[in-house]
Amino acid sequence: MEKGAFFGIMCVDLHIHTTFSDGTKTPKEVVKIAKKKRLIAISITDHDEIKGNKEAIEVGSKEGIEVIPGVEISTEYEGKSVHILGYCIDYEDSNLEKSLSVLQRARRERNPKIVEKLRSFGFEITYEEIVKEAGGGQIGRPHFAKLLVKKGYVKDIDEAFDLYLRKGGPAYVEKFHFLPEQAIDMIIKSGGIPVLAHPKTIGLKDDELFNMIKQFVSFGLRGIEVYYPEHTEHDVFTYKEIAKTFGLIETGGSDFHGDNKPGVEIGLGNGRLKVPYDVVEKLKNIAKRLK
Ligand code: AMP
Ligand code: FE
Ligand code: FE
Ligand code: ZN
Repeated sequence: MEKGAFFGIMCVDLHIHTTFSDGTKTPKEVVKIAKKKRLIAISITDHDEIKGNKEAIEVGSKEGIEVIPGVEISTEYEGKSVHILGYCIDYEDSNLEKSLSVLQRARRERNPKIVEKLRSFGFEITYEEIVKEAGGGQIGRPHFAKLLVKKGYVKDIDEAFDLYLRKGGPAYVEKFHFLPEQAIDMIIKSGGIPVLAHPKTIGLKDDELFNMIKQFVSFGLRGIEVYYPEHTEHDVFTYKEIAKTFGLIETGGSDFHGDNKPGVEIGLGNGRLKVPYDVVEKLKNIAKRLK
């Protein structure tokens, strides 16, 4: 049996990036890997982009893998980067696409500025090379990191972020973000369930996180990503307590980006991830009730 299949437990992965954003596998490849790992459901959650869902759903129906339409929207809360996941959205919703196109334009405006900053440090890279690296999908900082690695300017993607691309780093360039409440609203209007992504990476203290989530719940947040590769057992406990307090669904996923995030596998994360199928049932039940 392929590593990653858990005897008796049907597992899912609800946080996966594809070539439609900063992942290196196509939706079709993602579905095939998920099948090999014996997952029974996945969600494609590209940054500010929903176009990868169609291919994944089509291939998923052939391969017998349930694909929950998804998205991950970039927002900012008091200077911190906050990602809001949306599940069970209408993945062909033209209104949602229109809203996301604002964020896509913000990326197009920012990306050449990152190239300029990197060039000012003496790195010989061009915008065309970055576009090629992204292969037509939404361009994200991991594409810059990958190119710096390929050209031998840094040893790996982590070093590229640590030295240059991290928020506030020397090659960091701000881009327009929606407010969290706007992203939550966009997801709800598209029939979806808004979920707070990877709470740990936001970088807030527990009490600040609690207060932020309390506010987000008043905006319509319905879930929190409890299971995530970087979450320790203690983190999982903390986030479960928060989920219980506010009646939130406890979701989870690997945040797979293919070669752009080495060491993270679909379904397994960094080896210990295990997200049970009943999360999907809860998401679908709420989505049905909202319709
Ligand atoms: P962007 O949306 O283009 O600003 O890029 C954000 C993406 O960069 C995230 O979704 C991650 O995939 C990646 N990322 C952000 N910070 C780091 C980091 N410190 N190390 C590795 N990848 C990172
Ligand atoms: Fe990413
Ligand atoms: Fe994220
Ligand atoms: Zn992600």
